[in-house]
Amino acid sequence: MTGSYDLIVIGAGPAGLAAAWRAAQRGLKVTLLERADHVGGLAASFEVGGVRVDQGSHRLDPGTPPAILHDLRALLGDDLQQRRRTSRIRVGDQWLALPLRADEVARRLPPSFLARVARDSAVSKFRREEADTYGGLVRNRVGPALYESIYGPLAEKQWGMPGDRISAEQARRQTDRLGTWRVAARALRRSRKRGTSATGGGYYYPRTGFGQLVEALADAAVTAGVEIRCEAEVDRVRVTEDEVEVSTQDGDVITGGLVFSTLPLPVLARIARPAPSLTSIESSARLRYRAMLLVYVVHQGGRWSPHDSHDIPDPRTPVLRISEPANYRNNPDDPVDRSVLCAEIPCSMTDDVWGLDDESLADLVDEALGLTGLPKLNRVHVESRRIGQSYPIYRVGYEQDLTDVDTWARMIRRVVTLGRQGLFVLENIDQALLLAYGAVDAIRDDGRFDRYAWTVARERFARSGYVDGLS
Ligand SMILES: Cc1cc2nc3c(=O)[nH]c(=O)nc-3n(C[C@H](O)[C@H](O)[C@H](O)COP(=O)(O)OP(=O)(O)OC[C@H]3O[C@@H](n4cnc5c(N)ncnc54)[C@H](O)[C@@H]3O)c2cc1C
Repeated sequence: MTGSYDLIVIGAGPAGLAAAWRAAQRGLKVTLLERADHVGGLAASFEVGGVRVDQGSHRLDPGTPPAILHDLRALLGDDLQQRRRTSRIRVGDQWLALPLRADEVARRLPPSFLARVARDSAVSKFRREEADTYGGLVRNRVGPALYESIYGPLAEKQWGMPGDRISAEQARRQTDRLGTWRVAARALRRSRKRGTSATGGGYYYPRTGFGQLVEALADAAVTAGVEIRCEAEVDRVRVTEDEVEVSTQDGDVITGGLVFSTLPLPVLARIARPAPSLTSIESSARLRYRAMLLVYVVHQGGRWSPHDSHDIPDPRTPVLRISEPANYRNNPDDPVDRSVLCAEIPCSMTDDVWGLDDESLADLVDEALGLTGLPKLNRVHVESRRIGQSYPIYRVGYEQDLTDVDTWARMIRRVVTLGRQGLFVLENIDQALLLAYGAVDAIRDDGRFDRYAWTVARERFARSGYVDGLS
């Protein structure tokens, strides 16, 4: 395929799909290049043992901006279901509902632990709010007792390093999760009122899996005129005087007036021509992503549990969360005689666990169930997926490296970076879509890109305090 387009979008995840769709609706000639053989990126669903599953626990935030929700509702109709959370977290030797309920916390956790939490909460107004590290900031916000029993272990599992080596920025983007515990701690201190829940517990989820959202976006994009090409891995982005040439691994060269890249920033730095300065290349090499192993186990004998997800801070197992996709939705087409579990194991691609075969991974899941008192599985099948770049690691000092690379990326003429990997942010799908809309809206009618409008959209996004509270 060759040809000239108004806009070339790289990556058919939610951000790329939404941008391509919106741009085509404005009458632009758009092509979308995707490395995989399917669309959807991290938000895609697929089938295991006859059950549609996601790539780890995915839900649509109930706080999704109205404009985005409006469009998704229009695309999915009644298939976009409103659901109540049935999630749990393991604290000590107890399972507690998420969002936390003060009465349950008071009833189930040991009095000595509760006394420490209540004392931490009482003195919280005297604590300094700010700190340089995740560990420091979260300790200040929720107190040492909760930090040591929940946040510290969770952080170490999630990012592979102690909270004191993670930037405080990470905590600022987790206001939901932190808020949950703060409210619970305050509620505990004031009263032990029955039924108090820390935050609302709803979310949206499509009937046939989270991926139904991206499939609907892809269909809408194609209907609006977007050419989507899968199995087209981009390996060069060359900016010339009046256009951009994008080359794929199979030798195609496509030219366009503008490129939206959702590629990871370090990849763009490697394949862009002219190349960035040595300093930017070195900085980009220091931007790290956490990898994730997803282990899918088919359980024979109906639903395995009544819950949608189980968070496991326990450091004795590498499993961070176990979800049961069929419990995220009400879909009469889901099989009744079996269910699938998805275990999330955050790791590094150099860890031993990354190389384990499926049966050994399933054994790790069994071990996690045993350690946390979860029901045994009647395993009839297991398969795994590996995500090399699941989320950015905000280690202490990453800010300077990101600024170096982002400053370079913002200066590339005719190229705009967006999406989770393109901006190096821990955003959710609604935020990916909102920014994609913002990028398209910054294209002026004469086809030029309004950098100022885009900067304003990004700043508004940064100020809104994007969170990964739901995931
Ligand atoms: C475990 C987990 C749980 C999550 N939970 C939630 C949740 O509950 N709610 C929520 O809203 N969000 C959740 N998210 C986040 C959500 O998945 C992302 O926000 C969203 O997928 C980001 O979309 P994106 O388009 O920016 O990037 P991606 O989905 O990463 O898409 C990027 C695309 O670019 C393609 N690509 C890469 N390199 C090339 C190349 N060289 N050439 C062509 N194409 C290329 C990739 O194949 C991919 O399709 C979760 C993410 C993870 C990992």
